[in-house]
Amino acid sequence: MSPRFLVLCAALVAGVLALVPHTHADRPVATLAQLGHGLSGQGELIGNTPRRILHFTFDDGPHERETPRLLAALDRFGVKATFFFSASRFASGEKRNARASEIARQVAARGHAIGSHSFDHVPMARLSPPELREQLARADAMFERVFGARPHIFRPPKGSRNNALRAMLKERRDTTVMWNVGLADWVKRPAREVRETFFKVLSRNETRDGDRGGIVLLHDTHSWSVDAFVLIMEALRARNCELMASGEELYEVVDSLEPWVGKGALARAKAPDAKRQRTLRARLVQRCSGSSSKAARVMP
Ligand SMILES: [Zn+2]
Repeated sequence: MSPRFLVLCAALVAGVLALVPHTHADRPVATLAQLGHGLSGQGELIGNTPRRILHFTFDDGPHERETPRLLAALDRFGVKATFFFSASRFASGEKRNARASEIARQVAARGHAIGSHSFDHVPMARLSPPELREQLARADAMFERVFGARPHIFRPPKGSRNNALRAMLKERRDTTVMWNVGLADWVKRPAREVRETFFKVLSRNETRDGDRGGIVLLHDTHSWSVDAFVLIMEALRARNCELMASGEELYEVVDSLEPWVGKGALARAKAPDAKRQRTLRARLVQRCSGSSSKAARVMP
């Protein structure tokens, strides 16, 4: 066989391979940071904080219609969130959501974080250790297939957990992410009621625990929840204009759970971070001019 013939063959093979679409299986589609590997081994994060910092989390997706709508809304407000996916949505033969893997990869591509919400959303406190292991292993396998690695952040469905689950998560160095701003949006209701609940919960937490921010729980499987996210962001912007006028600490929507983690965490700070607040104020100056009447209209 002549060397020229071999070169020609190699070129032909390379050409054919170039035409084969690259599958996601041959490279990770989410970074390890997005899968919470940098937050591993932190026990349980509740979200409590005396600071006006908020991080949005969305459970139960991906949903064929609502998750893409939410992604557009998050982009519009420049917000990065954490999504806790139910892994059974990625199972083959899952008719409810044939595009689940594709949508989940879009979530990763848009820079959001991804956590596990178990395999099939069972109340985990009711499961025996072997059943718990099976739930975690089946979820891991699905996440590895879709994202190239498994997440290290976990949210138990309905917050249900027992000591066996706690021990397993500790052994796996998974961080459990709870919430302190729950909006009861699993019940169908108008989005503006969900927004009103948001402000009521903030106010209750402040009176009860001295908490002024936290980890917000919503669901990207309901249209009213996605609409509520938009209303909440608009109301927060309006509220910030009022707070700026009265010289108070402003709300900051943070892009990750990091403020609740590690030594000297922002979420435990006794006073607002002056530099971050200055940046927020600088951004708000233009937006707030002439918006006080709007603020009065949208606030509950
Ligand atoms: Zn759930």
